[in-house]
Amino acid sequence: MDPGYLQTPIAYLKGVGPNRAEVLRSELGIETFQDLLNLFPNRYLDRTRYHKITELQQSSAEVQLVVKIIHLKTVEQKRGKRLVATATDGQSKMELVWFRGHRWIRESITFNEPYVVFGKVNFFNGMFSMPHPEMEPLKKHEKGVRLRMQPLYPSTEKLSNKGISNKVLIGLVQQLFNQTKGRFEETLSQPVLQSLKLISKSEALFHIHFPQSSEWLAKAQYRLKFEELFFIQLQLIQKNQEHKTKIKGYPFPEIGDYFNTFYKEHLPFELTNAQQRVIKEIRNDMGQTAQMNRLLQGDVGSGKTIVAFMCMLIALDNGFQACMMAPTEILATQHYHGLKELCDKIGITISLLTGSTKKSERTEIHQGLRDGSLHLLVGTHALLEDVVQFKNLGLAVIDEQHRFGVAQRSKLWHKNELPPHILVMTATPIPRTLAMSVYGDLDVSVIDELPPGRKEIKTVHRFDANRLKVFRFLKEEIAKGRQVYIVYPLIQESEAFDYKDLMDGYESIVREFPMPNYQTSIVHGQMKPADKDYEMDRFVRGETQIMVATTVIEVGVNVPNASVMVIESAERFGLSQLHQLRGRVGRGAEQSYCILMTGHKLSDDARTRLETMVKTNDGFEIAEVDLKLRGPGDIMGTQQSGVLQMRIADLVKDSAILKIARGAAQQVLRQDPQLSKPENTAIKNTLSQMMRYKNIWNYIS
Ligand code: ADP
Ligand code: MG
Repeated sequence: MDPGYLQTPIAYLKGVGPNRAEVLRSELGIETFQDLLNLFPNRYLDRTRYHKITELQQSSAEVQLVVKIIHLKTVEQKRGKRLVATATDGQSKMELVWFRGHRWIRESITFNEPYVVFGKVNFFNGMFSMPHPEMEPLKKHEKGVRLRMQPLYPSTEKLSNKGISNKVLIGLVQQLFNQTKGRFEETLSQPVLQSLKLISKSEALFHIHFPQSSEWLAKAQYRLKFEELFFIQLQLIQKNQEHKTKIKGYPFPEIGDYFNTFYKEHLPFELTNAQQRVIKEIRNDMGQTAQMNRLLQGDVGSGKTIVAFMCMLIALDNGFQACMMAPTEILATQHYHGLKELCDKIGITISLLTGSTKKSERTEIHQGLRDGSLHLLVGTHALLEDVVQFKNLGLAVIDEQHRFGVAQRSKLWHKNELPPHILVMTATPIPRTLAMSVYGDLDVSVIDELPPGRKEIKTVHRFDANRLKVFRFLKEEIAKGRQVYIVYPLIQESEAFDYKDLMDGYESIVREFPMPNYQTSIVHGQMKPADKDYEMDRFVRGETQIMVATTVIEVGVNVPNASVMVIESAERFGLSQLHQLRGRVGRGAEQSYCILMTGHKLSDDARTRLETMVKTNDGFEIAEVDLKLRGPGDIMGTQQSGVLQMRIADLVKDSAILKIARGAAQQVLRQDPQLSKPENTAIKNTLSQMMRYKNIWNYIS
């Protein structure tokens, strides 16, 4: 079959025509033969089974029965009439109901003749009723092509109103198989098919629409899911290779004095194995002539900062500058202080640039960056302003990437002739399956090990009613010299409301923990940066024991003496946010605690989030649960969600197939990068057809 044939407009399929074509297009997005072929059933119905009326239940599932019609009447109702047939299966009675087409039905029904009726049932006036059943005399039904498993296609209200029932769709797909003789071009190569024992494309398409058994259905689904994921992976891997050959970067071959001196004489602790491995990976990347674009994932507290710092030293060793950008002023300031201590030991200059940097200081920084006397710059978005010009920026580190848009990231590129190497650090791991499918071969380094001696944070869920007990516990901890965070949600849409919650909370805390025995800080988004810093500072220095805050403290703040994190209205936070917040404690040697406070009314999802937090400290495990709860589109943002709308594969459920597909795609490209071997012709053609007919592959930047 000529593949072009499948691009025929659907109106030309026998039984369609212009009117139905329009409905198919608007309701199901079907424009061509190909689109209809790719309309995979949502479910299948075992049509070998007939229900008894006594077995019926109120549910959304279709059922099939054999009944005789014993009575027919028209009932007047507010608008129009309905035709009601009383039917029996010999034991009990039910009703069949029509709201239109009465005359035709009256004329075609024969009393006391067995019919196979099929549809959804409602329970109404003490009896089950089936509106607009599909029906057929039993005799005819048994003679017809018996579909053991009947496909149930996606359906909409409008489709059925316009007469395109499931039965009609089945007919159209059957027609398509007749016209094409069920022979379709293979899209995979023989080696791939054989090594993975996949069935052919034609077999798969036949059994996905008309499965002859559940074994065949499973094989068909597997093959089609594999294919879908395989081609996505193929595209992503190719893109990545292209990026690597096209986008040049400055190679940093030298490991020089800064790095070596720091490593030998000033490392404040021994690096974990994971940290060492990751530094090696990054070092290797930066040694190449291609621009590095690497994601560094590591759970909160896994020690990403020191890794970033040592990579910055490599840039310096090669005569380049480096910068680190953080999403909030508090975090940038903390990074600055932490890094400054290290810089001073080896004679590196470093400055902090944020929205509140004074003008005179700013001018000095700009000058230092331009003449190269300033080596490192730490800051917020302020780094992206046009006036910030580096002499030669070699590495840009971006902390906590989920706060920055891609557009902002690319701005950094334009500060040089060649783009700097980019290292994006995140503590919110993108689930591996998702990272793989969205980024393909994006380079990811993972720190999967915490520094030694860390204790698991004990997490509990407490209801608001137990608040007094919680307060008592806080007092005990404070008496031991520890510090406590109490965090309130602040979500934009209801900001005024949330703000009130925060202030009420603050007041009740101050009442419960009165001065002078207790000192309480408060930090929120509506405060002036200077006030925020002041309050934050007091807490960091241990002058206050309690920090009441909104999520501004979410990211990165490091106060090792803080051992309790109380999260108010915890049901309103997402999983990754909860995990981030919890990561603020457990940074010192003490046993730390996270207390999730909620009311009694909780949605199922909220309950799952809380249970997950109580059960595990592992960021990757939490990310996988998050993916299951929210779905991939939500996690990646709308930007990339296009790619995630797959036809048959499901990123959450089919991660095992994804891994196999990715491995297969890598192997094919490794052996034949241009896909020029004869055995790969089918793959090559399919790829180019995908590009031509469906431009869904443009999502990746
Ligand atoms: P994150 O990955 O969350 O950004 P940080 O870089 O802030 O983590 O590190 C958390 C804390 O752990 C810091 O106080 C840091 O000094 C410390 N740390 C980092 N690496 C090690 C290590 N290998 N051994 C001991 N402590 C470490
Ligand atoms: Mg950090």
